[in-house]
Amino acid sequence: MRFSQLLLPTLKETPAEAEVVSHKLMLRAGFIRKLTSGVYSYLPLGLAAIRRVENIIREEMNRAGAQELLMPMVQPADLWIESGRWEKYGPELLRFTDRNGRQSCLGPTHEEVITDLVRKNIHSYRNLPLNLYQIQTKFRDEIRPRFGLMRGREFIMKDGYSFDASEKDVEITYEKMYEAYNRIFSRCGLAFRAVEADTGTIGGSFSHEFMVLAETGEDTLVICKECSYAANMEKARAMEQESPDEKPELLPLEKIETPGKRKVQAVTEFLSISPKNLIKTMVYLVDSKPLAVLLRGDHEVQPVKLKNLLNGVEAELADDKQVFDATGVPSGYLGPMGLKIPVVADREITAMHNFAIGANEKKYHYINANLGRDFEVATIGDLRMVTEEDRCPHCGSNLELTKGIEVGHIFKLGTNYSEALKATFLDNQGMENSYIMGCYGIGVSRTVAAAIEQNYDKDGIIFPLPIAPFQVIVLNLSPSAKKFTEAAETIYDGLGKNSIDVLLDDRDERPGIKFKDADLIGIPYRVTVGKSFEKNGTIEIKERANGQTISVELHETVDRLLEIIRQKMVR
Ligand code: ATP
Ligand code: MG
Repeated sequence: MRFSQLLLPTLKETPAEAEVVSHKLMLRAGFIRKLTSGVYSYLPLGLAAIRRVENIIREEMNRAGAQELLMPMVQPADLWIESGRWEKYGPELLRFTDRNGRQSCLGPTHEEVITDLVRKNIHSYRNLPLNLYQIQTKFRDEIRPRFGLMRGREFIMKDGYSFDASEKDVEITYEKMYEAYNRIFSRCGLAFRAVEADTGTIGGSFSHEFMVLAETGEDTLVICKECSYAANMEKARAMEQESPDEKPELLPLEKIETPGKRKVQAVTEFLSISPKNLIKTMVYLVDSKPLAVLLRGDHEVQPVKLKNLLNGVEAELADDKQVFDATGVPSGYLGPMGLKIPVVADREITAMHNFAIGANEKKYHYINANLGRDFEVATIGDLRMVTEEDRCPHCGSNLELTKGIEVGHIFKLGTNYSEALKATFLDNQGMENSYIMGCYGIGVSRTVAAAIEQNYDKDGIIFPLPIAPFQVIVLNLSPSAKKFTEAAETIYDGLGKNSIDVLLDDRDERPGIKFKDADLIGIPYRVTVGKSFEKNGTIEIKERANGQTISVELHETVDRLLEIIRQKMVR
């Protein structure tokens, strides 16, 4: 491709609307343009990077035995009513009515459609296992579309669905997908981690997210510094606190005046105790009904864990007025003794003794309270966020918290959808069974954004070679000089003939502009026909990632590049 003919509207200034690096750079480098909130056009270079990711995904999905198909984007409401998600899915599902009054939606995901397809066409265990995928535009009416391609309303997803006859088989399929995903993101040249994950609204029992490690990630990952344990914060567990061998002496409960001390820090400083020695009582509203949640003073509630404990019902933190209305106690002095609303507790409190709690009376706290002696809690579970002070639930080593961008998600769905949609097959005994399903997503457009989030410098993008829109850019610094143009064209043709994707900067622009643009768009290898060519006939090859430069003769330029690129492209 010739730069002079390419739609590549680079910008000097960073558009004000962009907050994260990938969004800024994709706009500046002319990869994307916004049409409306969360909806973008992919310009040629942006699309080229997306296609590279797609091709790697295709190769690895096919290698793992999956088959590609393409399903409609418009889905009838009937199917979603059958699965029960028409009501459940919430406003992210864009619903509309057609001219015949039929309700439909734009596909945010395709469990319903694929299950319908399989139930109508497959009837026997002989056709299993079956693993199908597509690469397609999805629509989710996200509440806060942001960060460009990172969280769009319209975006490109690879979604795959598997159908197995037995638990044993679905585990083999899951394992294969786990391997395929590892290969996909390795081949994309990304630093990533597979982490244990919550199953969210889709449900199911086994789930991993693939996270590109980047500071701007919206997810917090908990990673063991020693063993392979890694989990999303929503799911992360910590090694349980061991109760001391000897039970400490239970001290007598004492009521202390703590005027104006409402926050954990203020109360514990006033009482000269550690926040680890206080149990805080938080009030949530669950379906408008109050619920108290107890946890150690220095811990925080993990909302997804709480939601799971409440069978999937969202809990909302109550404000001061709601707390008072529900308990008759001003917020800040609340405690579990004699509380009239239902109480759940984080399991960590079971290892605590002689701790402080609110006295359910304005200006008062208790010290030396004890679970079992002074109050009981019916429901205890893991409800809190893991911290860096915690230890690995597998090996007891230190944990590290880091940020990640979710680019892929695999989960075992079980029979949720096949049962709801009555998708069955006859097994080898002639018995009717529900398919055991799995589903496997990759955010294709998000992967490109994540790759940039992880690979850039002050001058622009530094694309990993396997997903770069072009592998090589050839700069002709004197397009008006015949000798230069011939040399540049020779390299351009030579690379093209060897299936290298190459961009020739043949524009009549100053060298400085060409260098700047080449850096901005992040092409891994830059070949310059410039000063040294004039002087001694040599061509400069520069690697974008590390700035390393070599000088080669014109006639060896193509071979040298082929060699370098072949070495770098792992299959
Ligand atoms: P998130 O928690 O980021 O909203 P999700 O759990 O809703 O993601 P899935 O339903 O698992 O996502 O979708 C599969 C993949 O699609 C995700 O791993 C992610 O990479 C991508 N994805 C999801 N929502 C978006 C979006 N709004 N924009 C771009 N990519 C997305
Ligand atoms: Mg989402």
